[in-house]
Amino acid sequence: MHVLVTGAAGFLGSHLTDRLLSEGHSVLGVDNLATGDRENLDHLAHEPRFRFEERDICGAFDPGSVDYVFNFASPASPPEYLRLAIETLRVGSVGTENALEIAHKYGAGFLHASTSECYGDPLVHPQTEEYWGNVNPVGPRSVYDEAKRYAEALVMAYHRSRGVNTHLVRIFNTYGPRLHPSDGRVISNFMMQALEGEPLTVYGNGKQTRSFCYVDDLIEGILRLSRSDEHLPVNIGNPDEFTILECAQAVLEVTGSRSELVFKPLSEDDPTRRKPNIAKARTLLGWEPRIPLREGLAKSLPYFQSKLQVRQS
Ligand code: UDP
Repeated sequence: MHVLVTGAAGFLGSHLTDRLLSEGHSVLGVDNLATGDRENLDHLAHEPRFRFEERDICGAFDPGSVDYVFNFASPASPPEYLRLAIETLRVGSVGTENALEIAHKYGAGFLHASTSECYGDPLVHPQTEEYWGNVNPVGPRSVYDEAKRYAEALVMAYHRSRGVNTHLVRIFNTYGPRLHPSDGRVISNFMMQALEGEPLTVYGNGKQTRSFCYVDDLIEGILRLSRSDEHLPVNIGNPDEFTILECAQAVLEVTGSRSELVFKPLSEDDPTRRKPNIAKARTLLGWEPRIPLREGLAKSLPYFQSKLQVRQS
């Protein structure tokens, strides 16, 4: 297959690109590098089946015939989408429509990277795909949440009205190598702080929960979904739920760090809990995550250590 990956220089886009190439497909990766990092694709410099174009998908473009479109372009870490508020809304709306037009024109399959943020601060726990969510439409996080919710509506409309073979994955918190060391997410912050011997910054009382999926598990689930007949959203994530304090403890153990914890204010609308119900993915795709948090953190350690060296040099 010839595959278009938008957001290819991002954390997930670059892992997805690697996986597609390893299966023998050819990939055109596009990214405007607003939050993506060209370094994530450096190892593909001599890969003849890969081509990179720096471009913003909010401008109309025609990549020529493609068989599949993976739409992964969007700022995704809270500090980054707050900084890039309008850009985040545009890539979820205009950018996603452009990507859908390409899939429609060439009869390509389409998979959109949606998010557990569609559930907002959820009143149903764990979150099933049927739950409509509890989202503040005008809070600071709304630029991301509502862009992703609008994008889901757009994708379903292209499926229902134009017959595009679309798929929607709701991605829960994911971590691993290439998570940007300064993107402000909890795992990257804690790993870098632990390695630097700096205090780990716990926001609020640290009793809010998240459920962390190792990137290889996530990519496997996404590929299975892309080949399925399911058009409604499917949660992909690891249902092992941790408080942020437990997450800090795991990072300290894995890094062997003696960093202290320091408590900082919680941002507005920070969800109090999050855990995927993955029964649908289990039944439909025969998928479930395999890598527990401490093992995944240990697998990510060399990457964060290398980023520490870059920071110190
Ligand atoms: N968090 C934290 N310290 C940090 C970064 C994040 O305590 O240095 C908390 C944040 O308040 C949230 C959780 O960790 O409750 C996950 O935050 P992240 O930014 O990784 O992603 P989110 O799940 O909020 O999109």
